[in-house]
Amino acid sequence: MAKIAINIATGSLQQPEIIVGIDLGTTNSLVAIIHPETKQPIALKEPAGSDESVATSSLVPSIIHFDERGAVAVGELAKHYLITQPAQTIFSAKRLMGKAYDDIKKNADFFSYKIIDDNTESLVKVQVADKFYSPIELSSFILKELKQRAEHILKTPVNKAVITVPAYFNDAQRQATRDAGKLAGLDVLRIVNEPTAASLAYGLGLSKDESKTIAVYDLGGGTFDISILHISNGIVEVLSTNGDTYLGGDDIDQAILEYWATQNGLTRDDLKANKTLMQSLRLKAEEAKKHLSFNDSYSSDLNGEVLALHKAEFNTLIQPLVDCTLTSCKMALKDAGKSVTAIDTIVMVGGSTRIPLIKEAVSAFFGRAVNDSVNPDEVVALGAAIQADILAGNNKDFLLLDITPLSLGIETAGGLMDVLIPRNSKIPTKAGRQYTTQIDGQSGMRIAVYQGERDLIKDNRKLAEFNLTNIPGMPAGLPKVELSFFINADGILLVKAKELRSGVEQTIEVKPQYGLTDTEVETMLMESITHAKDDIAIRALVEARTEGEQLLQTTERFIQKNNSYLSAEEIKSTAAAMQALQMALTMDDKNLIHQKIESLNEVSRPYAERVMDIAVAFAMKGKIV
Ligand code: ADP
Ligand code: MG
Repeated sequence: MAKIAINIATGSLQQPEIIVGIDLGTTNSLVAIIHPETKQPIALKEPAGSDESVATSSLVPSIIHFDERGAVAVGELAKHYLITQPAQTIFSAKRLMGKAYDDIKKNADFFSYKIIDDNTESLVKVQVADKFYSPIELSSFILKELKQRAEHILKTPVNKAVITVPAYFNDAQRQATRDAGKLAGLDVLRIVNEPTAASLAYGLGLSKDESKTIAVYDLGGGTFDISILHISNGIVEVLSTNGDTYLGGDDIDQAILEYWATQNGLTRDDLKANKTLMQSLRLKAEEAKKHLSFNDSYSSDLNGEVLALHKAEFNTLIQPLVDCTLTSCKMALKDAGKSVTAIDTIVMVGGSTRIPLIKEAVSAFFGRAVNDSVNPDEVVALGAAIQADILAGNNKDFLLLDITPLSLGIETAGGLMDVLIPRNSKIPTKAGRQYTTQIDGQSGMRIAVYQGERDLIKDNRKLAEFNLTNIPGMPAGLPKVELSFFINADGILLVKAKELRSGVEQTIEVKPQYGLTDTEVETMLMESITHAKDDIAIRALVEARTEGEQLLQTTERFIQKNNSYLSAEEIKSTAAAMQALQMALTMDDKNLIHQKIESLNEVSRPYAERVMDIAVAFAMKGKIV
């Protein structure tokens, strides 16, 4: 019998909260969920209305239009304004995510709306009339539309989502995507790589003991990505990515447009002068392209002129573009260190992979048939829905994997951060390192665990601190304290310290993943970038100081123990060199410290060697020194 939960506080039926999967594409975006009954992933589309001639689609064009009063329209509605109001109609906002003007200026011509060149390294803004929008805001408009659409179709609030991004997106771009989600009122539970999502939609990587190498070929509207993935034991690793961020279906449309223009004696300038004609031709070109994916020829007319295209002509037109993508595939394989024969599965993603020539060329390149059974427009969103379902805890067999957002380490001498687990490590993971005491007879060791990218712990965030006590009295440097970090699949960090000679040990549990908000993580990363130079200088100084202090201690101990073997002159010059070093330690000059360390070493080297010889001689006679 099925159980129904009732919320006692509100008296309402408790529905398991829905988590949607979202493909936020450059050209098209869409939402998918796991169907509550069939348990299969489905892309959401509005049910067909009374007018059955209007086919509904799951795809929402990633286009945003602002009218004179600043009102926002997204999707098909906005698409109509691409030509009539280009300055107010934003497309390809995804290309601007996490970018500064400098990053995109060589492609500035591509955008027909106004991007602010503020001559700084800060993130770009788009200007529409007298308003400025960040790419995060622009993407949030698309996400808001998707959220509303999903709520309308599902008749339930949608607050949680998994959003996909290209595998090559860096931290800034991923963070921007997260922020866009937040701005749209979505709690973004996970950012997933598009090729990973596509693999999931094909059921790849869903079983625990599977080990496969996969090529994901994604040709969309404006971008081409090839990713080589390795999946084993539920861990998806991106071995390499390649592609072209300005190559896709739009270029195919353009090639057809130019072909027809030439046939009809139209020059580039003619087209530039008549934008309406150009746009009509472009729409016809896209129509022809799609038609030729399922037919051998296309014919239509525009203002009484015949527009025709045969498949053979079309194939010739797109051959250079296809070759380009294959060159990228070659490079991706090379970077992944794999040969074509090492690829177990090829997954086709993106609307443009419907083109037969492309399927054939990719199959021929990899020497095997490609996987194209899942709708290439929807496959990424469907995979995101599967990931969402796993996060909702409905697919318990599947091990959830994440990466550490920031490095984890401990404080060492001089307040330096010693990283044990670098950021972006896949979890579960473990790492260990040995440390020792600095003072003779030291019986305890304070272990402070930090998270962050800076060289000095004071700039990072402290997660925990504990003491390893009861270390038996030993001379400095003798105890061997083994410190191990272990992050389990839930993101919980276990820190264990063990003194190996005595077996004394202590363990502490830390939760690093939940300690920081996304914005804090972002800020810490940004600071580690801006302060990188200072950090290196400070680290060098601190290291020099620690080395100097240690040398002073050991020299002092040595002199106390062995003064009977040393001449008065040697003791005097050592004292002088020690004093000079002591002095240098109070100044912020690492070179000076190194110089004084070297001088002290020079003074002590001759007698240290002599004393060693004596010690060895004693030892040979069977005496203990
Ligand atoms: P993106 O991931 O960049 O948002 P999509 O995967 O949605 O893009 O792909 C959109 C592109 O796919 C457009 O250029 C569109 O014209 C093209 N496309 C869609 N259907 C077909 C088809 N049947 N044949 C060829 N191209 C197609
Ligand atoms: Mg896509």
